[in-house]
Amino acid sequence: MEILIKFIYLISAIFFIFGIKFLAKVKTARRGNRFAAFGMFLSVLATLIKMNFIEGSIGISTIIAGIVVGGFIGLIVSRTVKMTAMPELVAVFNGVGGGASVLVALSYVFSNQGQNFNLINSITVAFSVLIGVVTFSGSIIAFSKLKGLIKGEPILFTFSHFLNLVLLLGSVYFLYMGITGSLNGINDQAIQYFLIGGGIALVLGVLLVTPIGGADMPVVISLLNSYSGLAAAATGFVLGNLVLVVSGALVGASGIILTKIMCKAMNRSLTNVLFGGFGGPSEQESQEAGEYQGVKSTGAEEVAMMVDSADSIIIVPGYGLAVAQAQHAIRELVDELEKKGKKVQFAIHPVAGRMPGHMNVLLAEANIDYDKLKDLDQINSEFKNTDLVYVIGANDVVNPAAINDPKSPIFGMPILKVFEAATVINVKRSLSPGFANIKNPLFEQDNSLMFFEDAKKATEDIVKELREG
Ligand code: NDP
Repeated sequence: MEILIKFIYLISAIFFIFGIKFLAKVKTARRGNRFAAFGMFLSVLATLIKMNFIEGSIGISTIIAGIVVGGFIGLIVSRTVKMTAMPELVAVFNGVGGGASVLVALSYVFSNQGQNFNLINSITVAFSVLIGVVTFSGSIIAFSKLKGLIKGEPILFTFSHFLNLVLLLGSVYFLYMGITGSLNGINDQAIQYFLIGGGIALVLGVLLVTPIGGADMPVVISLLNSYSGLAAAATGFVLGNLVLVVSGALVGASGIILTKIMCKAMNRSLTNVLFGGFGGPSEQESQEAGEYQGVKSTGAEEVAMMVDSADSIIIVPGYGLAVAQAQHAIRELVDELEKKGKKVQFAIHPVAGRMPGHMNVLLAEANIDYDKLKDLDQINSEFKNTDLVYVIGANDVVNPAAINDPKSPIFGMPILKVFEAATVINVKRSLSPGFANIKNPLFEQDNSLMFFEDAKKATEDIVKELREG
């Protein structure tokens, strides 16, 4: 029976690995999700068999009740969550994951009172408590910032980084005391040390995330996702559960890879995201954002005429598309343009929007063909041969200052070179800056026109003009 259970765990780990692999491409992402879900089903099944036949435990009804209640909540949430609220949902998942790992590790400690732990077990319990608790409280703050429950701006105070270091050392000290205590038979005092270490880590998680700006939360959430994986892997070691170690390690590794990709696409180091207080009000930059000269504006009728005489068109979506929920209007625009025989492509910047894959998900929701979505490396050489670029609610990801102005905070960030196209239409409501809070010289260029309107309304108006004309 034990061999059978190990075999099922191995199969489910393989499903997790293929699940992650398929999730890496938009086309296969749904399959990836199903694979991972099936892997999870197998591991739960194996655990139930183990509990029933090997351990003779009476906890099975509790687990089934948990699955029913959790599954029901999951079903409702997945059906009702808005695409723009996805980062918040992931923050909650991470928090719950981290919290669960801590509870499992602590329940192991409580249920083994009086027994001598080996060193590996004690260390993994401590690790699970530290990382799991930081993930839990950090995720609550990340969620609250994204939801607007607390101020999104970085909350910084003098010596905050020093205080965090003191808290980290304090937590590690008490967990170390817990480890040494548990080696000689776990008693009330060792348990107290673990709890105090966890309590300090709870404060640490809060103070680590509060200094980070709301708009950087997706990076933080990705990092916390990685932490929740590490906490789960540590708990897997505590319980001697192979599949938990494998799945935790997968989450840990994929979370850190995603964090790295996001930082690279913003040309910022992880240290800058975590400790830089980016996204706070900057008077100088905000003032600069207002100093535009020679900006030309346009409207739906004129854009429809320009579009009519263009053969190649690239659409560049950004955060404003998500705010306006303009994806379906864009779909109608693409249909109209293709009816007229135009070549239409989408240029997707890796950090357009406020979460990884934000644009891909929105465009997929409107059934826009995946093959039309080109990423930065694929499309950047094509702008110079393109008649018209339709920038919809994007700002930083098309800002030429990233290439031309060494003093710009986003200098070095890879951008979509829309400025090389014959004509650029920028749809946004005003000249307000984007997330980076800086001026965009693109709007002053000779080949650039501003269409000051909500992204959805502007696109619908153009479609109307194209149909009537
Ligand atoms: P930006 O934040 O640079 O700009 C978005 C623009 O959309 C704004 O200038 C705003 O202008 C406009 N906008 C807002 N609402 C509407 C609306 N209803 N209709 C039309 N326009 C609207 O977005 P980008 O996508 O270009 O860049 C993303 C930024 O977010 C980058 O700086 C990136 O580093 C950062 N970021 C991205 C993450 C990710 O994972 N994707 C994670 C963390 C940060 P106006 O108010 O005038 O309408």
